[in-house]
Amino acid sequence: MKALLHEMSWVEAKEYFRKNDIAILPVGSNEQHGPQNPLGTDHFIAKAIAEETAKRTGVVCLQVIPFGVSHHHRQFWGTVHVSPKTLKNYVKEVCLSLSYYGVRKIVIVNGHGGNLNALTELARELRDKGIFISIFQWWPAASKLLPDIFSPEERGHAGAEETSMNLALHPHLVSVDKAVDEETRKHAVEVNGVTLPLDTADYTTSGVFGKSTTASAEKGKKVFETVVNGLVKHVNLLKKAKIEDLMAKSRV
Ligand SMILES: [Zn+2]
Repeated sequence: MKALLHEMSWVEAKEYFRKNDIAILPVGSNEQHGPQNPLGTDHFIAKAIAEETAKRTGVVCLQVIPFGVSHHHRQFWGTVHVSPKTLKNYVKEVCLSLSYYGVRKIVIVNGHGGNLNALTELARELRDKGIFISIFQWWPAASKLLPDIFSPEERGHAGAEETSMNLALHPHLVSVDKAVDEETRKHAVEVNGVTLPLDTADYTTSGVFGKSTTASAEKGKKVFETVVNGLVKHVNLLKKAKIEDLMAKSRV
């Protein structure tokens, strides 16, 4: 059986959905990731994790949704973003069209932290409509491994952590010689406990938060393998779970 929905014919899709009520949907963003990384970093990584998991579990994977909530990166050229409301509605309609074929469980592989609020809101809303959505993100999934192989200054946006993932998955798109290290600026009015409506451009000139020159494909491969193993485990658990056990409890 093919792993990607868009590579199947409708006859093959029918065969899959007759037997399975689960699907994987990668979601990302198209935003600056420093001078060395492609704009598509977040959706490329989500797509790679989702597709590899689909191959290993036999659960179908959809096309990646490339645009996300990245308004705060807009000063850097080529960043293309949508509002949280638009992302939520777009993903919702994708999920509802899957549910027409009996899909009740959807694993969203989210490659961009800025999408999380909108996706969580959607997951709560659709649970009440009988569709269970789980949201998987690679950096918390590897939260035990990452601090062991990257220092705190390598773990920021477009830093060595993310650059290493790109080097492992699509090295031809990374310009290693353009990688920079940049210490982020602190805003003049910043104190602990205050949230400010700042953009990436307030913190950094290159788009890199911290250190990126120490990235390595080897480290990226290690992270990728760890993350995929974790997601495979989750998908297999979800596959077996009864839908009634995943739905909201009734009134007490
Ligand atoms: Zn990113």
